[in-house]
Amino acid sequence: MSGDAARTSACATGLRPAVFLDRDGTLIEEVGYCSRPEDVRAYVGARESLQALRDAGYLLVVVTNQSGIGLGYFTEADYQAVNAELERQILKLDGIYFAADTPEAPTARRKPGTGMILEAADELGIDLARSFFVGDRGSDIECGRRAGMRTILIETGYGLKHLGCGADYVAREINDAARIILGGGRPDPSLSPASPAPSS
Ligand SMILES: [Mg+2]
Repeated sequence: MSGDAARTSACATGLRPAVFLDRDGTLIEEVGYCSRPEDVRAYVGARESLQALRDAGYLLVVVTNQSGIGLGYFTEADYQAVNAELERQILKLDGIYFAADTPEAPTARRKPGTGMILEAADELGIDLARSFFVGDRGSDIECGRRAGMRTILIETGYGLKHLGCGADYVAREINDAARIILGGGRPDPSLSPASPAPSS
């Protein structure tokens, strides 16, 4: 994205809250090193959910580990083509950040490192304390927690394998995550198994 445009926007409007979103398994179906536009399948309702978050004033920022680039499985051009298809199916995002690091040689940008978050916060003018991180892995939740955000684990993608990661909320999928955020981040027992059952 255009850093100059983002900085101009941040100066004009002050710090804004954001919803940071993992990509694979969160917005689009997890297919394992997605590298082809024809494999991009956005989850049902993702477009409407993200539009509702945008309408509520949240910036929408994808942060994605793409070790497949570092491992040589696909190129950055392949990765960008997948992003273009994601944005075609869902909507144009305010920012997309990726880390090509391999798991064996991670920098601070690779989740759960917060490098990508801090870049986005600086470039887009984001108030992290009012922001959320939504993802399907413990590394997403850890990244959001380290950056001072509230965190939502969703059960799509690898989510069911990471239920014990200590997320603030658990949601079935992106639509439920959006409802939790739009509800002020309060646990909704019907959506969040991590929250206590209502007393009768
Ligand atoms: Mg994921």
